[in-house]
Amino acid sequence: MRVTILTSEAVPFAKTGGLGDVASALPKAIRAVSDVDASLVLPLYEQTNRALLREQLFDNLEVEWAGDIRRAAVWYSEATAAPTFLIDAPEYFARASVYGFRDDHERFAFFCRAALALQRRLGPPPDVVHVNDWPGGFAAAELRARRSFDDYYAHTRTLFSIHNLAYQGAFDPASLARLGFAYGEVHDAFLFEGAASALKAGLMLSDALSTVSRRYSYEIQTPQQGYGLDWLLRMRRDRLIGVTNGVDYDVWNPATDPHIAAHFSADDLAGKLECKRDLLRRFSLPEDLDRPIIAIISRLVAQKGYDLIQQAAGRMLETGAFFIALGAGAREYEDFLQVLRDHAPHRVGIYKGYAGEPLAHQIEAGADIFLMPSLYEPCGLNQMYSMRYGTVPVVRATGGLDDTVENFDRARGTGNGFKFQAYTADALLGSIYEALYCYAEPEVWRAIQLNGMRADNSWQAAARKYVELYRAVAQM
Ligand code: ADP
Repeated sequence: MRVTILTSEAVPFAKTGGLGDVASALPKAIRAVSDVDASLVLPLYEQTNRALLREQLFDNLEVEWAGDIRRAAVWYSEATAAPTFLIDAPEYFARASVYGFRDDHERFAFFCRAALALQRRLGPPPDVVHVNDWPGGFAAAELRARRSFDDYYAHTRTLFSIHNLAYQGAFDPASLARLGFAYGEVHDAFLFEGAASALKAGLMLSDALSTVSRRYSYEIQTPQQGYGLDWLLRMRRDRLIGVTNGVDYDVWNPATDPHIAAHFSADDLAGKLECKRDLLRRFSLPEDLDRPIIAIISRLVAQKGYDLIQQAAGRMLETGAFFIALGAGAREYEDFLQVLRDHAPHRVGIYKGYAGEPLAHQIEAGADIFLMPSLYEPCGLNQMYSMRYGTVPVVRATGGLDDTVENFDRARGTGNGFKFQAYTADALLGSIYEALYCYAEPEVWRAIQLNGMRADNSWQAAARKYVELYRAVAQM
């Protein structure tokens, strides 16, 4: 079976968040647990390190575009364990960031069309095209349209994975004709609340849908978390499944991690203290190793619960803990972090901006407590990374956070973190206080750390579920 995965980001080529990690780990894991021939296609961005590319396969991929033919180049890479094809169209992708442009709909519509045109050049059609989030909606729409007139794609089926329902890829419906979706069922599938939505088209026109945790698959069927599309997800619920993301332990493993100051594992935690010392130094904080470090790494958006952090920060610092934050995003939250740092320069360390991989690993390794007070969280990866690094997660019980973190039960000695329900600063602080009480008792703390470090969140189980899903989708 051949499966082609289309994504707008994948490490080590380009990353803005969790999708980047997932898109690169999934095809690799699929190839490890099955004989499915999984490959990856993504755009070639300005930020992509050219040293990762092996060769240019084509300089003349012909793409039907706006009533004309446009040529794109295609590069090949084996930087991950899965064959990866990168679409090189500088007018769309040689830009300073992955998303955030007025013509994003056009950029990713072009990417999808080019990725589908590429398959023809490579050989027999894929059995399944697996698309991710709104940028993939264009491919789902095109494949649905082609099914009726294009022999090559007559038997290809589509799987659409929702990594975050809040990003809908909305644009002016007047552009639909230019993108090649002028008429009929496919045109109408885009229409949503007076705009065109690539997400809605993908959700309507794909053969099957998946999302990245079981709990999130239910949450998106409710008006509270459905972003206006809950009716559609309820309508298609027999085609919707939740598969919780895994962790790539080749990349996120404190026993082998090349980015951290000292290695450690569940059998020998000594190196973690070295990592803590190193982290405090990096952020110019006093080397007071007994004080707990509370950390957060996230995009600075409302989804991640930054308003709760803002409200709780003063009382959190009163506990005597260090606070270290890495984040890029909304100006409002960057300013808040700066004010906090200026207010308590010996307790607070901040890095504003996208830091790349090493610092994220160093924070996971050196911190004691990791915060994820998300308003909603489709899966979340950092709580699972934290657990592996003996850093105890404090999370709100939503989406994948609820599925992967088990509240610590002192009497039974079970659980790997601290979970709160209400989306309030007091509830977050309640869990932080609980965590700090446990931190003060080294044996109790060690038990929580080890419960997390020994949890198996590897991709193996998830990859097997995807393989089953691909087989089912191919038969639809
Ligand atoms: P989301 O996909 O919603 O951003 P996830 O928890 O699933 O959230 O994944 C976030 C990923 O992005 C993690 O690998 C995290 O380390 C990384 N990340 C987030 N913000 C930054 C940043 N400013 N610098 C470096 N890495 C970051």
